[in-house]
Amino acid sequence: MRTDLNTVARQAAHWIAEADGLVIATGAGMGVDSGQPDFRGNEGFWKAYPALRQAGMSFKSVASPETFQRNPALAWGFYGHRLALYRRTVPHLGFQLLQDIGANLPAGAFVFTSNVDGQFQKAGYPSDRIVEVHGSIHRLQCQDWCVPDIWSAGAFTPDIDAGRCLLINEPPRCPHCAGIARPNILMFGDWRWIDQRTRQQQFAYNRWQHATPNIVMLEIGAGTDVTTVRQFTASSGRRFVRINPQHEPLLPRQALHMRSGALAGIQAIYAALVERGFIAAEAIEIVAPEAPPDDVRGACMLTPDPCGKV
Ligand SMILES: [Zn+2]
Repeated sequence: MRTDLNTVARQAAHWIAEADGLVIATGAGMGVDSGQPDFRGNEGFWKAYPALRQAGMSFKSVASPETFQRNPALAWGFYGHRLALYRRTVPHLGFQLLQDIGANLPAGAFVFTSNVDGQFQKAGYPSDRIVEVHGSIHRLQCQDWCVPDIWSAGAFTPDIDAGRCLLINEPPRCPHCAGIARPNILMFGDWRWIDQRTRQQQFAYNRWQHATPNIVMLEIGAGTDVTTVRQFTASSGRRFVRINPQHEPLLPRQALHMRSGALAGIQAIYAALVERGFIAAEAIEIVAPEAPPDDVRGACMLTPDPCGKV
């Protein structure tokens, strides 16, 4: 198994060494090594949110504009808990290693992510090199769609009753109509997501990729429940490496599969790049990732917190 991982890592390193630019395409699996959850099916979601199991609500039903309209305290109980978690999450070492790999390529790196957690910005990536294809939890918009504005969620600090997954304090308000604001995230069955910020990011990506002839992509932690990132890499026509712990029977022809978690896969590729002399060995010392802070780890895994994993 380990040999296979290193063999794929060496091939990936060969592709990267030949490339002009690197696309880092990530799904929920990228955050697992930072202590974040990866919802897989209803069981995975309900394990994280027992209160919502009792209410018979799936991820798709709570992550919807209808829930914000019908029960904003519950919807904000869910998203407010996630917002607080992502604010205190420390990005794992893999973010830094990828940034270092990109810095060694002529056109650098560009991020394409379906994650709304803002972890690439937190890890120090330039915001003009990131596409957040499903939006960001750190931005708000009017749920009643009164204006096409998007603004920072920074002034809002959610206070959550974790036992019932409810927001206790006042929800954020739209500064124009005083209606309830919601995260600027593409939800399920969502016709009112304001996508102009994501579109601007996509235009920036298109300009970059048109000017970068030889791009290699690392697709990391993108599952099959929501396939946006997989479609992006598979339809790109570029070489890509799929880093994912699952079995992959239908791998596209221009792809490699590294059967691995995110951090372990990134570390293997980084080590292969050091081995071939592409990256100076002293650039970053590869060490075991630090455990997330106790409050993150505790909320996610140890306490019977109904909102516990997000
Ligand atoms: Zn409004």
